Amino acid sequence: MKRVTLLIPCYNEEASLPKLKEALLSLMSSLPSYEWEVLMVNDGSRDHTLEMIASLHEEDQRFCYVNLSRNFGKEAALLAGFDYARGDAVIVMDADLQDPPEVVPEMLKYWEEGYEDVYGKRKDRGKESWLRRRLTLSYYWLLEKSSHIEVLRNVGDFRLLDRKCIEELKRLRESERYTKGMYCWIGFKKKELLFDRGNRVAGKSAWSFRKLFGLAVDGITSFSIAPLRLTTLIGIIVSLLGFIFMCKVLIKAIFWGDPVQGYSSLMVVILFLGGIQLISLGIIGEYLGKTYMEVKKRPVYIVDTYVC
Ligand code: UDP
Ligand code: MG
Repeated sequence: MKRVTLLIPCYNEEASLPKLKEALLSLMSSLPSYEWEVLMVNDGSRDHTLEMIASLHEEDQRFCYVNLSRNFGKEAALLAGFDYARGDAVIVMDADLQDPPEVVPEMLKYWEEGYEDVYGKRKDRGKESWLRRRLTLSYYWLLEKSSHIEVLRNVGDFRLLDRKCIEELKRLRESERYTKGMYCWIGFKKKELLFDRGNRVAGKSAWSFRKLFGLAVDGITSFSIAPLRLTTLIGIIVSLLGFIFMCKVLIKAIFWGDPVQGYSSLMVVILFLGGIQLISLGIIGEYLGKTYMEVKKRPVYIVDTYVC
């Protein structure tokens, strides 16, 4: 019998867990031809999530859990899940039922047909502000242009991964993680499945704009050095323009003499160059910081307990 793991990262999900449990139980009983494992990763929740997960395990041995020592973020929680999952296939789902379990049978069907990464693509992004939607779309565009790998739009972590993919993902141990990009990067036979992403059943999203901005910067900087190239390009263009301007000033001074003038042009040049230099420094700093975090080679997460 093939074993399938449902991998669910949980951070402060006490409000969603009862509904999640119902949904999972009915999913598992509707597909009795698989041996099921539910692997919950408690990502340092501050509410009663851990106790609830522990009691789920008491009731039903198919529910296993990894308890991280603190909140490491969803990306780290996912890696912990990949490390501890034992299934021949792993299905990654959110705890808030935004990823509908009804799609899972179809995912399994494609897996049986030989696809190794069956990912859910949102038809509709659920209830979101106009600004957030626009920002997300332009971000995907930028990411795709800069990284040269195909990054799929409106695709999240909701997917079925074959054991092969899991083994490869486990080898990518960088601490600055952008898992969405990694799924594309590892390759393998992919299949798209459309689904409607609903709203959270309970609780609220843990993603603030600040966190999302961080994730966006990580996405670009961990998959491409295009911003560094861009600064080089801007540097070259500005130097060329500067050189032309210099020739003009010199020729004017030599042949026509130069009474003190040009305060405004000086200011414009100084401010403009200053701005570009600061931005370039920031971009270099971003990469330097990443390099610093990586060379420390710290573990991505720390496990407190694993119960199965
Ligand atoms: N999550 C996590 N650690 C975090 C933040 C979120 O494990 O630091 C989990 C959360 O419990 C949920 C999933 O990641 O199962 C998606 O989180 P959320 O619903 O807040 O994000 P959104 O659906 O808004 O993208
Ligand atoms: Mg959610």
